[in-house]
Amino acid sequence: MTDFARTRAAFHLPQGVTYLDGNSLGAMPIAAADRVARMMRDEWSEMLITGWNKAGWYVQPRKVGDRIARLIGAGAGEVVMGDTLSIKVFQALSAALALRPDRKVILSDSGNFPSDLYVAEGIARAMGATLRVVSPEEVEAAIGPDLAVLMLTEVDYRTGRRHDMAALTARAHDAGALALWDLAHSAGAVDVDLHGADADFAVGCTYKYLNGGPGAPAFIWTHPRHADAAQPVLQGWMGHAAPFAFDRDYRPAQGIERMRVGTPPVIAMAALDAALDVWDGVTMTDLRARSIQLTEAFIAGVERECPDLVLNSPRDPQRRGSQVGFRHPQGYAVMQALIGQGVIGDFRAPDVLRFGFAPLYNDEGDVSRAVAVLARILRDKSWDDIKFREKAAVT
Ligand SMILES: *Cc1c(COP(=O)(O)O)cnc(C)c1O
Repeated sequence: MTDFARTRAAFHLPQGVTYLDGNSLGAMPIAAADRVARMMRDEWSEMLITGWNKAGWYVQPRKVGDRIARLIGAGAGEVVMGDTLSIKVFQALSAALALRPDRKVILSDSGNFPSDLYVAEGIARAMGATLRVVSPEEVEAAIGPDLAVLMLTEVDYRTGRRHDMAALTARAHDAGALALWDLAHSAGAVDVDLHGADADFAVGCTYKYLNGGPGAPAFIWTHPRHADAAQPVLQGWMGHAAPFAFDRDYRPAQGIERMRVGTPPVIAMAALDAALDVWDGVTMTDLRARSIQLTEAFIAGVERECPDLVLNSPRDPQRRGSQVGFRHPQGYAVMQALIGQGVIGDFRAPDVLRFGFAPLYNDEGDVSRAVAVLARILRDKSWDDIKFREKAAVT
């Protein structure tokens, strides 16, 4: 059994704060601060340029990728780290599209994160393809014989709705298309099984449920059947077969290494590597069970205590990720009042209060505190104050 008291104790959780925003930025693992300090003190400062070999900075994107592979049902040597998720979406989608040269349609849904759709639109324009966006419920029916790539985010960032990765991938394959999955709200939150679902490409970030810290590097996975066929469009020198030959001609590296672009963020990778230590001893089955337990308890509590709120997430836990949304016409002000009382969730336009449950560090105490404070704020209407209406740059 996974010891969730141990994992919770591995995080710095500020005094007086109930943190339910790990779906935007995971909490800081205590060991990450020391790891970064050690990297500065022993590696950068003393080793200087020799750190690339001596401290293993150069191979870190693959080594850290292997640690993430276990959490998403991928194999060793199949995941590489670097850049931000938006860049990884670009790389995976452009490579997938090029593997279906006789087809021109990219299909996604309106629940996808804007950056993924913006990137897809740009690729469609540059590569002469068409982006079709339908509602999440219409995706299955929209898969047809003209489809090149089905590009979906498994768990919807607003509602927490979880697509059936295996079923939709099978539908895409039946139509002769490839399936690209964004795991931004899945990795570290639910039991992802990329090989089990037979997916083609996957990408994700590490600053949400994987707790790598703000700006932590993203990951990309290619199914081994495509790893040597996928042609990178972003042909960076670190993805070259022999980066230090400085050849004039580009030759992609074998396998997933070709999805590296430029110099990796070594300091950020140190923090992420420390964050991944917390995952040792955590099974994905226990993680999923814990997540369902927390989200079910929260929904039951809110529906009992807060009649003004309307559930904006699937009621069936099997169709939900690790976050729950509730709607309120003055959602922004309610969330600001809640944050003022130490319960941190976030707000997504137009009216959604979002609460992410990070199974590694949230517990039943967080659930009951959040429900109690939310109920009080709605009862005494303390959210109805001018100071809670001002919008900050980052919501
Ligand atoms: C969080 C998130 C992003 C953010 O991309 P960055 O490049 O890391 O800023 C992109 N897509 C999805 C689906 C997300 O949830």
